[in-house]
Amino acid sequence: MSGLSFKVRTTWENHLGNQSVDPLRIYEPESIEQVAIIVQEAEKAGVTVRAVGSGHSWSDVALTTGFLMKTSGLARVPAPEPDFIRPAWEARRLVRAEAGIRIKELNSYLDRSGLALSNMGGYDHQTLAGVISTSTHGSGIAFGPLNDFVRSLDLVASGGRVYRIERRDGPTDPTAYKAHHGTRRTLVQDDHWFDAVGVGMGCMGIVCTVMLEVEPKYFLREVRRLHTWEKVREDLEAGEVLHTNRHYEVLFSPYKRKHEYPCLVTTRNYTEDPRHKRFAKRTRNWLVELVSAFPLTPHLINLLIDIRPSLSPFLLESAIRALIKDEYDEVSYKVLNIGAANVLPAYSCEIGIPMVRGCHIEAVDRIIEVAAEHRDVGDVYQSSPISFRFVKGSPAYMSMMNGVDTMMIELIQLSRSHGGYELLAAYEEALYPLAGRPHWGQVNTLTGSHGLVASMYPHYNDWLDIYRKLNARGAFDSPFTRRVGISKERFGP
Ligand SMILES: Cc1cc2nc3c(=O)[nH]c(=O)nc-3n(C[C@H](O)[C@H](O)[C@H](O)COP(=O)(O)OP(=O)(O)OC[C@H]3O[C@@H](n4cnc5c(N)ncnc54)[C@H](O)[C@@H]3O)c2cc1C
Repeated sequence: MSGLSFKVRTTWENHLGNQSVDPLRIYEPESIEQVAIIVQEAEKAGVTVRAVGSGHSWSDVALTTGFLMKTSGLARVPAPEPDFIRPAWEARRLVRAEAGIRIKELNSYLDRSGLALSNMGGYDHQTLAGVISTSTHGSGIAFGPLNDFVRSLDLVASGGRVYRIERRDGPTDPTAYKAHHGTRRTLVQDDHWFDAVGVGMGCMGIVCTVMLEVEPKYFLREVRRLHTWEKVREDLEAGEVLHTNRHYEVLFSPYKRKHEYPCLVTTRNYTEDPRHKRFAKRTRNWLVELVSAFPLTPHLINLLIDIRPSLSPFLLESAIRALIKDEYDEVSYKVLNIGAANVLPAYSCEIGIPMVRGCHIEAVDRIIEVAAEHRDVGDVYQSSPISFRFVKGSPAYMSMMNGVDTMMIELIQLSRSHGGYELLAAYEEALYPLAGRPHWGQVNTLTGSHGLVASMYPHYNDWLDIYRKLNARGAFDSPFTRRVGISKERFGP
């Protein structure tokens, strides 16, 4: 026995409560050494083990029936692990944090240090390891997902072995690393390994620290204007808007209002420090933020929709109009966080569509058709505007953006929406023929059948190669790996 304390007979559930599990034990380690002991103990007991972040995945990706490791005790920045930086890397802005830190606390630390993330998703309550493990992304065609800003990570794999994994020319000086750790830890500087572990969905082991490349603190101006899909479609076909703005994203209603589909276009570009500007220019629409954060708001909307489902198109357009704002200037990480909409009880499915041969434009036509069919046949409605974000292709083998610039389509539903999950599954089915890839952390119905995962990810076998090495005894398998077929080899040919 390790002597580390743990809880038994305790249920873990994600932040929304749509995923829950009764694992055999729940641990809360505070060091890499403790993580290694827990992995060894799981393997000795013949059970699975998995880390969870802050439980902000709507999918089953974080569940484990064996030993569940909470990572809130691994949340220091800078991480207490020496870096051994090579001279060629000394001038770069690098920060190594422990993997369980939330993006919110990481941003505060960076801000105090005059630094900032180059990009982030629309929310900041997720952990660092959580966001990289599912390839969480923001918007901006010049930026890949968050895992693309990782330069080095420390991970505990099968047998409790500790690895530091980086690109071939990564930041750690191998001689200094070896002199310090001897044979107790292994430095792997190899592009193949790095591209595999970047997006691991918890299957490669327990990530304990992550080194990110960051940039000097900066400020952004957000502008939100009303458009129609017809105009946005023209702009996307021309493509210029994606390159002339640091960030360009769209909120869209699949229901026509006065012969056109309403859209909200958000752009974000560099600006000066707005400290001396009027309050109104340094905030979003505070009334909308307040109403969104009000606990009864989603229940009232659901009630209204239950009484009169046909009000949905009007409500979607109203939600879009309420967000219009000429100018919101603030420090980058506040502007990149989309605000109170994040706290509405909702779930979502997000599908990445490659931006090639107009597939992403066609995807919008498919969404309109599915939404119309569900409305006409079953009185089922989309209950929240649909978001389009544009993300640079990523080298990470299992990123939804792997190898190709991608339009990420986020299909959000308020929690109690009637037929909501069924509508999301129908969108998903309609978007797979357009080479759609579902976000690992969001609701999806992907299964191991029909070789679907291999057909979506050209480097799936390369990823499996490293997964087999780091997860030699299957300890990091889970209900998710069984569902999507990743661990099917454990069940024989
Ligand atoms: C309100 C909200 C807003 C969101 N906004 C966005 C967005 O803008 N863009 C976007 O792309 N996604 C977004 N998401 C999805 C979310 O970012 C991802 O699902 C993310 O993975 C959640 O991180 P987490 O820390 O909660 O991790 P969890 O959900 O707890 O875990 C996610 C995965 O990471 C693994 N993991 C966690 N910690 C470790 C570790 N230390 N070592 C190894 N594996 C680990 C888990 O095993 C699991 O596979 C949003 C979700 C919510 C609820």
